[in-house]
Amino acid sequence: MVPFLDLKAQYRGMKAEIDEAVIAAIDSTQFVMGPQVGAFEERFAAFCNTRHCKAVSSGTSALHLALLAAGIGAGDEVVTVSMTFVATTAAILYSGAKPVFVDIDPRTWTMDPALIEAAVTPRTRAIIPVHLHGLMADMDAIMAIARRHNLIVIEDAAQAHGAEYKGRRAGSIGDLGCFSFYPGKNLGAYGEGGAVVCNDDDLARRISLLRDWGQESKYNHVLAGYNYRMDGIQGAVLNVKMNYIEAWTEARRTIAAQYDRLLASHPYRRPAPRDDCRHVYHVYAIEIPQRDSVQAALDAADIKTGIHYPVPVHLQKAYADLGGRPGDLPVTEALASRFLSLPIYAELRSEQVSMVVSELNKVTLTEAA
Ligand SMILES: *Cc1c(COP(=O)(O)O)cnc(C)c1O
Repeated sequence: MVPFLDLKAQYRGMKAEIDEAVIAAIDSTQFVMGPQVGAFEERFAAFCNTRHCKAVSSGTSALHLALLAAGIGAGDEVVTVSMTFVATTAAILYSGAKPVFVDIDPRTWTMDPALIEAAVTPRTRAIIPVHLHGLMADMDAIMAIARRHNLIVIEDAAQAHGAEYKGRRAGSIGDLGCFSFYPGKNLGAYGEGGAVVCNDDDLARRISLLRDWGQESKYNHVLAGYNYRMDGIQGAVLNVKMNYIEAWTEARRTIAAQYDRLLASHPYRRPAPRDDCRHVYHVYAIEIPQRDSVQAALDAADIKTGIHYPVPVHLQKAYADLGGRPGDLPVTEALASRFLSLPIYAELRSEQVSMVVSELNKVTLTEAA
């Protein structure tokens, strides 16, 4: 049995530290925000190489607040991708703006910069690239287009903690960067969590206010805000995990390199990260024919896999009002039906990686016969 994710193994490796930090958070009765959240914000800002980090209640609220802090709302358009978790689109809709989808580059599975300008209208105010699976989008090209058209760039870095593009960390290149600490993410809380990072003092101040009911001081509400604060216990857990994030990321990269070696003679396509990018492998996915039957056969052999994501946002029923139709985004749609995510996490053993690939070999031979 190879599970897709094993959060218990991770907890076992640091149980004493986590338990102590969580009990200290409870003992302090600082259940919302407080010193452990403050300490985490400082460490995470340093990790991202940004001036500010504002901890919030989820990756979704991070995206929502980033848009609001940048002044985006009704009547505005935001260019993004459909090959993402629905939260990217949902946050744009929460702000009152309209999402406009562009296709992805088949070589990186992230926003294709060559398609952005055709999607820009006089109403466009922002671009949200998504660093899918932990590989950063082509930020130089995206930033150049944004500067030319005076657009805000918000990085959806929910899958890209510690990823790098030409030596620069995810979240630090755009005007704002948004992270999720949902338990299964590369850096996961023990519940919901998220953060916005940025270098601009004014944007940081607005996010601080908006996450806490717009309060400048107690019961003095200067902005119409939200209850998007981070729990004290989540700050405690994340602080402990900051001691491990670099080692976990390197472990993921080692596993990915093992998959790459074992799959080298296979025709399965996967993104080839540039030498000057650090892919953090939130997901290790391959393009494979007959994906659904391969996945079912692997499941029967107790190898658990995932699909991130099987139905692009523009074809989801919930977002039908946006007018998306099959054929709109050919690269996105083709990939959605073909890619398969293999198990990857720091505790995955090298024998398990070999086992996944040998089962995959068996299954695909059977499929081909
Ligand atoms: C997980 C995720 C989000 C949402 O984060 P939550 O913490 O679950 O709200 C947004 N965008 C992407 C790309 C994600 O993977």
